[in-house]
Amino acid sequence: MNDILPDQCAIWQYLEDCFRAVAGSRGYREIRFPLLEQTQLFKRSIGEVTDIVEKEMYSFEDAGGDHISLRPEGTAGCVRAAQQHGLLYNRQQRLWYQGPMFRRERPQQGRYRQFHQFGLEAFGMAGPDIDAEIIELSAAFWRRLGLADSLKLELNNIGSAADRERYSAILGEYLASRADELDPAARGRIRSNPLRILDSKHPGNRQVARDAPAMTEYLSPESVAHYAALKQLLAAAGIGFTENPSLVRGLDYYNCCVYEWTTEVLGAQSAVCGGGRYDGLVAQLGGRPTPAAGFAIGVERLAMLLETLGKLPANAQFRADVYIVVIGGAISAASQALARRLREQFPDRRIVCQCGGGKYSQQVKRAFDMNARLLVVMEQAEGEPPRQVKLRDLHNSFEPRLAPIDQCGQEIGRLLSQNL
Ligand code: ATP
Ligand code: MG
Repeated sequence: MNDILPDQCAIWQYLEDCFRAVAGSRGYREIRFPLLEQTQLFKRSIGEVTDIVEKEMYSFEDAGGDHISLRPEGTAGCVRAAQQHGLLYNRQQRLWYQGPMFRRERPQQGRYRQFHQFGLEAFGMAGPDIDAEIIELSAAFWRRLGLADSLKLELNNIGSAADRERYSAILGEYLASRADELDPAARGRIRSNPLRILDSKHPGNRQVARDAPAMTEYLSPESVAHYAALKQLLAAAGIGFTENPSLVRGLDYYNCCVYEWTTEVLGAQSAVCGGGRYDGLVAQLGGRPTPAAGFAIGVERLAMLLETLGKLPANAQFRADVYIVVIGGAISAASQALARRLREQFPDRRIVCQCGGGKYSQQVKRAFDMNARLLVVMEQAEGEPPRQVKLRDLHNSFEPRLAPIDQCGQEIGRLLSQNL
């Protein structure tokens, strides 16, 4: 598992704030659901014959004999939770979530066994307008992060469940005719799930997949119309895309329009977001038929992209607003009292009080270590209660100024409100 260090947490907090704002402003509400689910839930939704379920899930039997898995993705758990709590009954619902996902893959740059996603799901809307809304939302998120030029949208139409069934039979025949070029895993899927072979990263399989009969020939008029309308809506919204007929996604529940946002900056792990429609899933999991669509964003890859491109704003870093030090290094009840007062006065600010004494220069170094904005130096005269403090702005050089200790809050508030 990858450790997440404080600097990364600060970046993630920034990403989360941005995503919450973008999703919230379009009426999406946050939902939380467990990391552990019945294994059967993932088998029924993602599909038994997929890489995720066959090879990548952390599954075990618990002490009571239940078959449990750590969630490899969010959609299945989100649907299960929303349905169980009546959120999907006869209504539309816009939801988002975030949190860790688990897949037993080969760990490498951009691919971890515990990773994190921001996900978003919309239920009860059958038209292409919701697909456009969701894609536009992701585009707005990239814009907000300054990534609009670094991510490209790839789009494909994988048809309805019935379209895919028809196509699977034809694809299966074709794959069987070139079975000796496929790897053993793919050969095993020719009958059970030939579509998955199109999603393979194995070079031999890819070559075979390239010459496969195209799905587009086997789409129903409804799928074609839906997809065409989506493309028009995207064009009207000024969102560029390229069509990628080999984009099939690694999960079985998708239908009709599917997409990925990819970047050229992150090497092989190029997908930052993947999504699409999944109109059959709610009914498949025991609910009433409910059209649905959603996407998931890989937070680690997104953070890596921002760092690589140097697009992190100053507020994505931790910063103490005020750091209180004491001249003379004495451990002082007065500095703690001042910190208490300032925390009451500025409840949203980060007020840090030097602990453990030490030389003035060492204390100042600690303040810099915390990326502090204002240094408050308490002048402690021998035997007398301190009367004044010296204020230094560590991010903005001006002459240090003195303020009476009782009224220093006013001056601190004024200095902090000067945004840099
Ligand atoms: P990939 O093609 O890279 O394996 P995927 O299609 O398996 O991705 P999805 O199931 O679509 O991934 O998940 C959505 C996003 O989650 C991906 O676009 C990616 O950014 C991220 N993601 C998926 N698996 C991992 C992982 N093991 N480590 C880090 N991020 C991941
Ligand atoms: Mg994958």
